[in-house]
Amino acid sequence: MESLATEILGLNIQELTDLVANLGEPAYRARQLFQGVYKDRIRSLEELSTFPKFLRERMKQEGISLSTPVIDKKFVSTDGTIRYLIAFPDGQSVETVWMPEGDGGETGDGSDAGDEEESHSGLPKKTYDRATICVSSQVGCAVNCQFCMTALLGLKRNLSAGEIVGQITTVLNDHSVDLDKKRINIVFMGQGEPFNNYDNFIKAVRLLVEGVGFPQSRMTVSTSGIVPRIYDLGKEDVRPKLAISLNASNDVERTKLIPINKKWDIASLVDAAKVFPLRNRERMTFEYVLLDQENDSPQNAREVVQIIRGLGDKQASAKVNLIAWNSGPEIPFNTPSDSRVHAFQKVLTDAGIPTFIRRPRGRDIYAACGQLKRTTA
Ligand code: SF4
Repeated sequence: MESLATEILGLNIQELTDLVANLGEPAYRARQLFQGVYKDRIRSLEELSTFPKFLRERMKQEGISLSTPVIDKKFVSTDGTIRYLIAFPDGQSVETVWMPEGDGGETGDGSDAGDEEESHSGLPKKTYDRATICVSSQVGCAVNCQFCMTALLGLKRNLSAGEIVGQITTVLNDHSVDLDKKRINIVFMGQGEPFNNYDNFIKAVRLLVEGVGFPQSRMTVSTSGIVPRIYDLGKEDVRPKLAISLNASNDVERTKLIPINKKWDIASLVDAAKVFPLRNRERMTFEYVLLDQENDSPQNAREVVQIIRGLGDKQASAKVNLIAWNSGPEIPFNTPSDSRVHAFQKVLTDAGIPTFIRRPRGRDIYAACGQLKRTTA
């Protein structure tokens, strides 16, 4: 019999079916495994109570393991945000951020009241507590956005689908979350560019939806603008909502801040956004990190209005999230004043574009957007 040295976390139902078939076990064992690993979020094979002990022992002998990620460190912010340093067996680690919000709070992904689920009475359902988990897709990042601390790490490696899912199940377990009782959003906005690790990212999404039990409508992926993958995402039958990190109002500025803009410029981003198929009531987000005196003038705001107007039919579904840059050591930018942020917002809202200012979360523990660099103090 060929060696079965295999990590279970990250396998889909088909791969688990093949695995149990190799062990000579019936197919229902694959469904039990799938349920145990993803829905029940077990941490080790010993917890797989639906399997008899002899079978768990046999799996171990065959080199089949379940290695959930380990919480290396936890940093707790004064605002309740928790930045987890999550470690993998090869010594690499990433950050995963938990942002708690009470009822009626913002969701952390820029969703507004219009995104609320409605009850049968037509009134917003607000019975559940909420939280948002921000997950990493790579160790470090190769995109090199000039305002981002993760960029300083460079790209160390891609995360597997299991390592992406494992960050989420580990954080859910740390909070003993019952997904039937708590409304959790997932944002793929941690370390890395998810679209530069597309296959593992999209596999993780399917496992989260079909296994762990997240509705796809509660997930958002943010891209720096890897245009071909935007087209790919539009073809997926299970996918998160799309957020495009715009961050500049013209190509000269954007190429300076996000060098890949040389390859995929603003016009190519708009072309991809124009044909991106949206689900009923779904919105497409454009994120804009405001850097003081760099990209935050009223003229920049007017240029953003023109970009959004260029979306044609999709303009009605577009919204803009503004993020006042979160400072970090070694990055030569400044945080704009509240008055500059509000002036920028006003230009967009006056033009009829829904525009929200994202509340910074966990700045004091380097957990906010663009601050994820495995800082350990
Ligand atoms: S902002 Fe995102 S894409 Fe850009 S360098 Fe940071 S992690 Fe990478």
